[in-house]
Parts: sequence; C-alpha cells; structure tokens
Amino acid sequence: MSNKPPKSQKILVVEDNQVNLELFMDLLDVGGYECLHTTKGEEAVDIAKREMPDLILLDIQLPGVDGLTVGKILKSQAETKNIKVIALTAYAMKGDKEMFLEEGFDGYIPKPVKMKEFLDAVEEYLRS
Ligand code: MN
Repeated sequence: MSNKPPKSQKILVVEDNQVNLELFMDLLDVGGYECLHTTKGEEAVDIAKREMPDLILLDIQLPGVDGLTVGKILKSQAETKNIKVIALTAYAMKGDKEMFLEEGFDGYIPKPVKMKEFLDAVEEYLRS
C-alpha cells in the first residue's frame, strides 16, 4: 500500500531561507512529488506560468516582492489564477489563516512544519 501521489503532480516551492527550502524539498521528495523551487518572489510568477505547477507553497516573508504580493499577482492573472497557492509563514497569529484566505490563498501552513502534518496538508490541498 502506498500513499505516494503520481509523479505528474508538480509543486513549486518559493522560500528564501535555504535551510527551510532544503527541508521542504526533502519532504516533498519523500512524498514523491516533482518539485521546482525559487528563493525569489520576483521569479515565482514567471516559473508558475512556464511550468504550471499543481500547487505553489509560498513563503510570505521574502526579500523584494513578498509572498502576499506574489499570491495576489498569481490570483489576478488568468493563466495562474487556478493554481492552488498555499501560504507558508512562521508568523502564525490568530486571524492569519482567515486573512490569507481573504487574500485569495487556497490554504495556509504554519512554520515550523513537521513531516507528517506537512505532507498530509499538501496531499489534502492537492485533492481539494
Ligand atoms: Mn522567508
């Protein structure tokens, strides 16, 4: 029995912290996903348009163009608006989840992440 998703599911990770980025990529690799990544918000929209990932995990605290802005751009453009965008942030406060959903994000994963919870959340967002 395997919970591994088909390889066709592609995830773009946008995260400027190298340690976090490597962790997310490792976890997603364990989950069997095809992964793309960038540390720059500026590049995320172009990569999304080119690669059309099934899901984007988007860090909010980014240098330059922040994740909230990237998320809004993705959701405002016809080519990318149907890609699921999940906010990743360490700044988990009461009301954050609602705020991200109001801004058009499809979901929210607080950092730090734990392996099982992270992969369960990713799987659930891909299914929903
Ligand atoms: Mn960051």
